[in-house]
Amino acid sequence: MTDATKEPIKIDGYHAHVYFDPATRAHAAQLRETIAGALGVECRELSDEPRGPHPVPQFRFTFTSAQFQTVVPWLMLNRDGLDVLVHPLTDNSYDDHSRYAVWLGNPVALRLNTMRRGYRPEQYPTPR
Ligand code: ZN
Repeated sequence: MTDATKEPIKIDGYHAHVYFDPATRAHAAQLRETIAGALGVECRELSDEPRGPHPVPQFRFTFTSAQFQTVVPWLMLNRDGLDVLVHPLTDNSYDDHSRYAVWLGNPVALRLNTMRRGYRPEQYPTPR
């Protein structure tokens, strides 16, 4: 159980990771374009190789806490069968990808043992 009397955990934005495979790659590329347009977020390129804790191809985008209420409902309605991980950016990336994670669709078994605790600066949302 989380101890609610402790310091609240600070969230510095969120990542969404959209997973795909060879059969859904074109579909993921199209969704990526739609996301960039509809949500005004910066999407990274499709990553066809396993990357960090992600054992299968995916692309990622970053969004702010203020954008959460727009982005997450949009993904709920428009992910179109693709599996999506939404995780916060706290000071503990391991927890972010496990106990704090939200999945839309089916969870992917992440390689949590490969993770560093912190994030690189470019992994945070750009201040607007
Ligand atoms: Zn991430």
